Amino acid sequence: MPLYEYRCPDCSHHFEVLQSLGQGADDVTCPSCGRPAPEKQLSTFSSSSSGDGGASLGAGGGCGGGGGFT
Ligand SMILES: [Zn+2]
Repeated sequence: MPLYEYRCPDCSHHFEVLQSLGQGADDVTCPSCGRPAPEKQLSTFSSSSSGDGGASLGAGGGCGGGGGFT
């Protein structure tokens, strides 16, 4: 279950919510002020990849580089 980050435009409260893939921001309310449908932020998982060269991806670590999805 992915973790989504939200920021409330009313009180600027920043929080994270575990959601199923089918759920949207409409199901989320700010835990601080109760405002529905706060703004979804980029997750730390994706934003953390910006900045490094990405040379480690596809360079073939110890996995053999087969790309097995099993
Ligand atoms: Zn709020």
